[in-house]
Amino acid sequence: MIPVILFVFGIVIGSFLNVVSLRYDGDHFVLDPRVIGGRSHCPSCRRTLRWFELVPVASFFIQRGRCRTCKARLSFQYPLVELISGLIFVLVPWRLAAIGAFGWVLPVLSALWIFAFLALLVMAIIDVRLGIIPDELSIAIGVAGAAIGILLALAPAAASGSFLGPLGDAFSVGNAWAGRVIAAAGAFLFFEFLVLVTREKGIGMGDVKLALALGILFGWPDVAGVIGFAFVCGALIGVFLIAGKRKTMGGTLPFGPFLAASAAFIFLFGAPVARWYLGLMGF
Ligand SMILES: [Zn+2]
Repeated sequence: MIPVILFVFGIVIGSFLNVVSLRYDGDHFVLDPRVIGGRSHCPSCRRTLRWFELVPVASFFIQRGRCRTCKARLSFQYPLVELISGLIFVLVPWRLAAIGAFGWVLPVLSALWIFAFLALLVMAIIDVRLGIIPDELSIAIGVAGAAIGILLALAPAAASGSFLGPLGDAFSVGNAWAGRVIAAAGAFLFFEFLVLVTREKGIGMGDVKLALALGILFGWPDVAGVIGFAFVCGALIGVFLIAGKRKTMGGTLPFGPFLAASAAFIFLFGAPVARWYLGLMGF
């Protein structure tokens, strides 16, 4: 029963995240009521939507993805973000329990990780739309990471574990706080170096600040997995887009979505992939 309630609650939150990420204008705070307030309307005919057109996921499918009046196609982003948000609320506590979090630590740790992943979701949409990563979202992710560090220091036995399984244990510095400081400094310096090398053409300052925040959130060595996997995916998709003539060699891809997707991948699958990789190497 609890997963169902969490999923439905996550879908409702996802509907709010759609509004936040689609109305963000780059000039105001991401939650500024002057920007995100006001009734929702059809982006095509501007008609104000009735309550039954605002039911997350369901309205989209009942209306077959079109506005009831003008029949304009609605973005598939609406139900997609709502479903991803619902999944975040279900999968985060499930995964944390699987790596050893229990007791009172589990709900608190889950809330912090859910908050961080929701911020990553909003960040990814805004980066695709506008090519910027709002500072307040990176700060929110970093603050969630610092709170997780405090929690792990208070109750180390209740929440063991790296998201990289045996690889994480092999390279761990053994202390949640030291691991976070090292990870944040390492991620920051690595991205700062990339900014200097690419002269801000590939990687921007928004990515640098996000990488620092992810360092605090994931700690060492997990953040190395997050950044490494993001670069592998970014390179693969870049090659596909260039081959398909959708991008040129000089064009840039927003990197925030790759970092967000990679963070989710390492969080969910880092440990089994690390075990598979070590087995392949003969360990
Ligand atoms: Zn319309």
